[in-house]
Amino acid sequence: MPSAVSVIQAPRGTFDVLPDDAARRAVLEDRAKKILGAAGYRRIETPTFEATELFARGVGEATDIVRKEMYTFDDGGGRSLTLRPEGTAPVCRAYLQHGMHKLPQPVKLWYLSSFFRSEAPQRGRYRQFWQVGAEAIGSDAPETDAELIVLLADLLQALGVGETRLRLSSLGTPETRAEYRAELVAYLRAHREQLSPDVGARIQLNPMRAFDASDPGTRAVMKGAPTLLGRLAPDDAQHFTRVRELLDDAGVRYELDPTLVRGLDYYTRTVFEFASDALGAQSGLGGGGRYNGLIELLGGAPTPASGWAAGVERMLIAAGELPVAPELVDLFVALGAPDRAPTGFELANDARRAGLSAQLELTGRSLKGQLKHADRLGARYVAIVGEEGRASLRNMATREQDELQLAAVIPTILRGSRLA
Ligand code: AMP
Repeated sequence: MPSAVSVIQAPRGTFDVLPDDAARRAVLEDRAKKILGAAGYRRIETPTFEATELFARGVGEATDIVRKEMYTFDDGGGRSLTLRPEGTAPVCRAYLQHGMHKLPQPVKLWYLSSFFRSEAPQRGRYRQFWQVGAEAIGSDAPETDAELIVLLADLLQALGVGETRLRLSSLGTPETRAEYRAELVAYLRAHREQLSPDVGARIQLNPMRAFDASDPGTRAVMKGAPTLLGRLAPDDAQHFTRVRELLDDAGVRYELDPTLVRGLDYYTRTVFEFASDALGAQSGLGGGGRYNGLIELLGGAPTPASGWAAGVERMLIAAGELPVAPELVDLFVALGAPDRAPTGFELANDARRAGLSAQLELTGRSLKGQLKHADRLGARYVAIVGEEGRASLRNMATREQDELQLAAVIPTILRGSRLA
């Protein structure tokens, strides 16, 4: 009879990481750890929630994330807390809080954590999602930016993520950006009649949008528009040239995209984004850039830094086949009769303590059912617990079965494993 109680579903926009998914994630984590670890990045994990103030300051009050996507709550004591929507501000907070500026610089950190944003859910866009991120704090060298980009390119390649494209630009400084914005607004105003009504109405609010317009009139105007890349101050331009040379040397292909903006005020100089055509509408795999203004915004001394974050779910959607390690079962302990359960329990424990993976019959199957189940699990051996300290040990590959003392079961399997 169906139950009268309804089954509770996980909230919209969230998902369960089922065991098969967890195995693929473990491969991703392992690759990230190897690739980032080899370049000196060390793992950091920050709390799932932080003071709301951290994101208001560190992501920016005007951003979509802070304006409408955060899960913010009162902790009951009048303090406003927020489930982290991103990882850079928390890592910088930790850098300051733990005095990491006293360590040899740059401090290189990586994380693999879950993040929370109240966005409209769709394939590749969730309300709880995971990101791998890397941050290098305390270096202004173009080599740091290039290193970070190469590391993400290597990670995507190691995962077999297909059809990737890298867009690259430089944002210069906030001052250059403000001057450039004023120049672009003036240019758009001067060509107002040729722009689409939509773009024309938003010149002051969002002039950069004109670069994305598809109507022929606007496109024609934008061909002659000034670009931010063309307005960089000499040292910013030099920094960017160096980043490009380093990427060329490393064989990392990119497209220059002077319209690439990364929403956040604290970005300076290098910005980049990887996307994959294999992903459909939500094509962004990950991105980042240099954020020389952030640490100061959070109360620290001016400190150059750069980093990136990449979406775990999107990388896994676009990844190739991953070599998921088979789950080995060395021994399945079957019970010749139900009253042998305590003996079987002990045998399974002893086997695990001896380094074997072992499972015990737990649902009262018939002996035939137990053997079938052991086969399904891919068990190498089945020990059928018999009477008076005896057992039958069945080699599932050869189907040979030996009668032996219970105490001989584990040594026999260990000996067999050594021979194998
Ligand atoms: P962002 O922090 O917005 O630059 O995002 C970096 C990467 O995280 C994106 O390119 C996506 O791969 C991933 N990402 C961002 N938001 C979501 C989301 N709501 N669901 C799944 N992945 C996301």
